[in-house]
Amino acid sequence: MSEKLTGDFRKFMDKSFLGSWDVPDGGDLILTIDHVARDDVQNEKGREKKMTLHFKEREFKPMICNTTNAKAISKAYNSTKVEDWENKKIAIYKATISAFGQTQECLRVREYPPKSDELFCECCGEVISDHTADGKTYKAKAIANNALSKFGKYLCYECAQQAKAEQEAQA
Ligand SMILES: [Zn+2]
Repeated sequence: MSEKLTGDFRKFMDKSFLGSWDVPDGGDLILTIDHVARDDVQNEKGREKKMTLHFKEREFKPMICNTTNAKAISKAYNSTKVEDWENKKIAIYKATISAFGQTQECLRVREYPPKSDELFCECCGEVISDHTADGKTYKAKAIANNALSKFGKYLCYECAQQAKAEQEAQA
């Protein structure tokens, strides 16, 4: 079976951790911390143990948490204890940093809790809202995150259905 892909190619290469390619352009990625862990991370220096954030939203990979981001979460929730961060929502955004003459995209956490869960459809521009179909209610956030993982952008229920139909037509 073949699956047509859309979005940044890097997200199909790196399987282990959340990257800047997982965050939509022009919007924060809002995720809920499940727990904080220490994981083996493969980098240029070899294998290293790094602090990571694991999310309630299982479709998103864990995120490596550096000191800058750990400080931002401490500030947002007024606690340096990692167990206090559980069940808290964080807003993740893309930042560009310069190091050794090269610019790199990296993930940053806002120093304040997400103000609102309101997400906008990147196709029609409407607010993504809960949707009820066949007696089942899909939460706006689940719809948005599902579209983000499948199509690489936030979509409302209607636009996601259309994107799915287009994808199936091409398959
Ligand atoms: Zn839409």
